[in-house]
Amino acid sequence: MFRQSSAHGRARSCLGNIATVVKVVLLVVVGGLLLLELVNSPRLGDFLPGFQSKGPLIGLLAGHWQNDSGAVCKDGLREVDINLEVARRAAALLRQRGYRVEILPEFSAKLNGYQADVFLAIHSDSCIENLSGFKVARMTHSSVPEREDLLVQALYQAYGEATGLKPHLNTVTEDMRQYHALRRIAPETPGAIIELGFMGGDRYLLTHEQDRVAVGIANGLSAFLRQYAPTATPRK
Ligand SMILES: [Zn+2]
Repeated sequence: MFRQSSAHGRARSCLGNIATVVKVVLLVVVGGLLLLELVNSPRLGDFLPGFQSKGPLIGLLAGHWQNDSGAVCKDGLREVDINLEVARRAAALLRQRGYRVEILPEFSAKLNGYQADVFLAIHSDSCIENLSGFKVARMTHSSVPEREDLLVQALYQAYGEATGLKPHLNTVTEDMRQYHALRRIAPETPGAIIELGFMGGDRYLLTHEQDRVAVGIANGLSAFLRQYAPTATPRK
């Protein structure tokens, strides 16, 4: 009797151990799948550039994000929503090409001395109906003017090709050239600011053809990095 119940006890505890092992294995598998899902989600990917690849680092600032709405049209269209969506789509394209991309909010603490292979702040222009066009600018007193001129040129070329928009040069303001983020990033990080188009005159492109807008940005940045950092640039 004693021996029998002891055998039963051993059998029970053995089954208990197996159940525990199965539970742990299941937890590890489910946890792993969950982590994989999180890392691949674009939103978390924004903050985890290191997980994407080991290619050159691109910083994209989504204008007004986590601070204010930017321009708001009569029907409620908000500049910040366009800027962020375009930044996310451009980031996805660039990650596919092997670059690391980080999306930064307007007043990110990271901006002070920010180091990357290239930095671009993304904004959109006002709701004025009869204006159309985009523009790109670098800081007036740049520490790396040749590199930044190359960046501005590459963006004018690629963005114009992808979107069909014309440069709207006579509205490049001193505000753009003195943009706070360009003054805060590390002096050796080549940076620029783009105004994607007018939320008035270019509304269809900015709201219904954001993929084309993102391609323009991705192609401009890729072209710049191929010229400026060809050895560090992925071969895709
Ligand atoms: Zn803006």
